[in-house]
Amino acid sequence: MNNLRFIAGLCVGLVVLSGCVIKQHAAQGKNNEENKTFALTNVNIIPMTVDNEIIENTTVVIVDNRISAIGEKIPNDAKIIDGEGKWLIPGLIDMHVHNLVDGSPGNNYPTKGASIFFDNQDIMLLYVANGVTTTFELSGRVEHFGQRNEIVKGDVTGPRIALAALIDGSNASKVATTPSEGRQAVRIAKGDGYQFIKVYSRLNIETYKAIVDEANKQGMKVVGHIPNAFEGKSEDAFVPHFGLVAHAEEFSKQANEFTEEEAYKLARLAKENGTWVTPNLSNLVRIAAQGRSLDAVRDLPSFKYVHPLMQDKWITANQYNQGTTPKRIAYYDELVDFHVKLVKAFKELGVPMVAGTDAGTSGIVWGYSLHDELTLLVDAGLTTEETLAAATRLAATWLGIDDKVGTVEVGKLADLVLIDENPLLDINNTRKISGVFFNGRWVDKSQIDIMLENLAKKNSDNLGKDEFLWSKIRER
Ligand SMILES: [Zn+2]
Repeated sequence: MNNLRFIAGLCVGLVVLSGCVIKQHAAQGKNNEENKTFALTNVNIIPMTVDNEIIENTTVVIVDNRISAIGEKIPNDAKIIDGEGKWLIPGLIDMHVHNLVDGSPGNNYPTKGASIFFDNQDIMLLYVANGVTTTFELSGRVEHFGQRNEIVKGDVTGPRIALAALIDGSNASKVATTPSEGRQAVRIAKGDGYQFIKVYSRLNIETYKAIVDEANKQGMKVVGHIPNAFEGKSEDAFVPHFGLVAHAEEFSKQANEFTEEEAYKLARLAKENGTWVTPNLSNLVRIAAQGRSLDAVRDLPSFKYVHPLMQDKWITANQYNQGTTPKRIAYYDELVDFHVKLVKAFKELGVPMVAGTDAGTSGIVWGYSLHDELTLLVDAGLTTEETLAAATRLAATWLGIDDKVGTVEVGKLADLVLIDENPLLDINNTRKISGVFFNGRWVDKSQIDIMLENLAKKNSDNLGKDEFLWSKIRER
């Protein structure tokens, strides 16, 4: 039995098996039965290049996962996708995620020998449904390499994945407490195949500095937190090659007071050091909401797509809700306000910002949260175009893949999202997805909807089963 027939048969027999549609496509691709040439016709392009000149009512030809022509005639063998009245943008990039892989939730949440297995397609479907074609995994583990390979091979439809190895002063898979340990951890990460280094909160000052320096020597860019040890001397943390701060909250932790003046003072440190920022506004907004009530999680329209283990964990072990107090909620609210001040200061001073969500943290649903982040960036004062740039061209630039993705141009890979209405007029239009191109594969909204429905059903069937109960797993 060939692979295609096997998977197609499985799909018919098991309608609840989520991911069938794109798995079937994957099988087709392997058998060279999938059409490799596409023509998107009558479409409006928002290229997201620096000058970003809109190209109206044109044809985009895609051959073998690459944009081969814009505004030229349709090849005879092309599969036609009608783009009339629709808008084409580059695939979106989430610059801060934590993807579930086998063995998750991972080092910080030991599962004491429990074997948790995830269907990678279920995890990746949420990105597919939301047009997120690249993700930046900020606590990479060996399992993430396997996850990435499945996508690269076409066995799973999902985003490209950039991997950062997290190094911390304790309680992590890579721990460093001295400069030499820090340098060694970087070299090991490099040898393991990680592309980036993430520095974390519990590093001491000298170790942190050694890690950033060694990463540069190894040709690895550094993203992360500002270690707690820099409290009261934040300027010292902005050493050369500290490339990207992973949350606005890292600045808030350094702030003496939540004023505009303080926001500018901190933003200036980033500007002078050439450090970029992932504001990650959505995270604190969600944290503040969870501090008030767990309904903030339960009522999320996308909650039903979250794996049952994580649904259970986000409800029964929610660190933002457990022991909640009005004082703590008020503090979260202050942070939310201060982050808006920070974003305004970053914008004013020209600190480049990229869009990231911390997806995987409770209440931050993979894929869906990126659209929340875009909305919040516009609310904080970015234009719709600046916001889209943060999730496309600028993110690709920071990751060093801007020669391949991040804009809609001839020669670039076809990481593309077709949307029903113009997102430059209203950023919420990025949610109105008509179809997406992933790895040379076209997935339209009707397929996405079927897969999401199947996933929601599978999750609800599994909810409450022993193997997915966080409380039980912790006791093991
Ligand atoms: Zn994170």
